[in-house]
Amino acid sequence: MRPSARHVVVIGAGPAGLMAAHTLISAGVDVTVLERRAALGGLGGTTTFEGRAGTYRFDFGGHRFITSNRALLTLVEDLMGHDFLLAQRRSVIRLGGRTYDYPLNIKNLLINAPPTLLAGASFDLLKALVRHQLVDSDANFASWTKARFGPTLYRTFFEGYTRKLWGIEPTELSGDWADQRISLMDLKDVARRLLPAGGKGLRTYARTYRYPRLGFGMLFDRLADHVRDSGATIRRGVSVEGLDVRSGAVRAVETDQGPVSCDAVISTMALPAMVAMTGGSSPLRFRGLRFFNMMMDAEDVSPNTWQYLSDEHILATRLQEPKRRSPEMAPAGRTSLMLEIPCDPGTAMWQMPDDVLFAKVCADLRTLGIDPSMASGEYFSVRAAQAYPLLVNGYQRARSQAFAHLGAIENLYQCGRQGSFRYVFTDTAMEMGQMAAEAIITRQDLRADIRDHRNERIVIEAGSIA
Ligand SMILES: Cc1cc2nc3c(=O)[nH]c(=O)nc-3n(C[C@H](O)[C@H](O)[C@H](O)COP(=O)(O)OP(=O)(O)OC[C@H]3O[C@@H](n4cnc5c(N)ncnc54)[C@H](O)[C@@H]3O)c2cc1C
Repeated sequence: MRPSARHVVVIGAGPAGLMAAHTLISAGVDVTVLERRAALGGLGGTTTFEGRAGTYRFDFGGHRFITSNRALLTLVEDLMGHDFLLAQRRSVIRLGGRTYDYPLNIKNLLINAPPTLLAGASFDLLKALVRHQLVDSDANFASWTKARFGPTLYRTFFEGYTRKLWGIEPTELSGDWADQRISLMDLKDVARRLLPAGGKGLRTYARTYRYPRLGFGMLFDRLADHVRDSGATIRRGVSVEGLDVRSGAVRAVETDQGPVSCDAVISTMALPAMVAMTGGSSPLRFRGLRFFNMMMDAEDVSPNTWQYLSDEHILATRLQEPKRRSPEMAPAGRTSLMLEIPCDPGTAMWQMPDDVLFAKVCADLRTLGIDPSMASGEYFSVRAAQAYPLLVNGYQRARSQAFAHLGAIENLYQCGRQGSFRYVFTDTAMEMGQMAAEAIITRQDLRADIRDHRNERIVIEAGSIA
């Protein structure tokens, strides 16, 4: 069968776009990838910083590779060879001067939690044991989490953190997000971890994961090299600004550097931006993140990969030490910290000068028991305006409308994380890119399958083989 296109333009050189390009070029279809940034890898990229002590590397928020797709894992392993490390995840929750295990478990709560929290959680557990509370299918985040964990744990661990992360009330956030991110457990699972078997057999979060030696972005640099060596063109610093659509099909992509003609388009740019570019409008929005990266004149800060910072008065939601993923994320004898600070473009936090933010971050580190005098005084920020799709109540309707609008263009395949407006991990974004390419190669209309691939009810972490 002949593919439905001879030349395809892929918008975006992130995981989804590069995987689409790889699949197309392997099937003999000409590909041009257009990427507006100078760097490749999208949100999966890694930024390098030359410090006084040597080279430091930072992801856009520490990434890890997990997947349940054997063929995808094999492809990535072949690309990475010995540069694909196996790392252990170790995460904690910091709240009110105390440190709790992540995921929560009762043994650890019994040792660390204040008596009022224990009394409240025990009461909630007794209620949960006698009465199985069903979660409404259209529950909001607050009602979903209260039903699963009880009001006490909800108020303590979820409410303030969620408000800080999303910038809206937990009652305004869709239960879909909780469904996907924390559905692996409920209050009874938390309690079962007290049993002698330590909760053996319970579904849980992936503890081990794969990680490229020089940062997550190394994987996409390798994939891009491979795609280029196979004959695809990758143009960086080219921003797509419009589509030339005639008789219901894209004929060319308009960029800030002139038009590029094509027979089909695979787009990983944000769904509402694509709707706007094709004459529609969409209320779908994203939450931004500012990553504050700082070099430390110390060998180690903590053994943790992640520290979830639940106190609302602390600016960041997560504190990461990149070296915990690969020792080569910092020079020998040194380490670094990365703080994820949720904020949106145009706000005071987004625009705050780095030196002002550095002083605030140092005060937060002191509160967390980390001596800020270990900081070398070298720091920089990286910003992602579209870090998370903002899944407000009722977003599903706006999403369906956006796809209905784009459905009128027969050779446009929208995919990826921002592109499908889904909270998906890298492996799923790559699978979506692959499916979009396969739709062109096999002349099938897979658009509905692509946008709902591994939907929110299929838990992403359980069953990772990576
Ligand atoms: C804080 C954080 C932590 C994460 N942790 C993990 C993790 O541990 N494991 C994991 O697997 N995933 C993780 N993810 C998710 C992962 O980053 C995404 O799933 C993945 O990057 C999505 O790939 P994508 O190609 O769909 O989109 P992107 O990576 O966003 O790539 C889209 C590309 O399109 C380009 N583009 C957009 N508009 C245009 C335009 N008009 N013209 C030209 N180019 C354009 C962008 O510049 C970008 O390079 C995390 C994400 C965040 C924010």
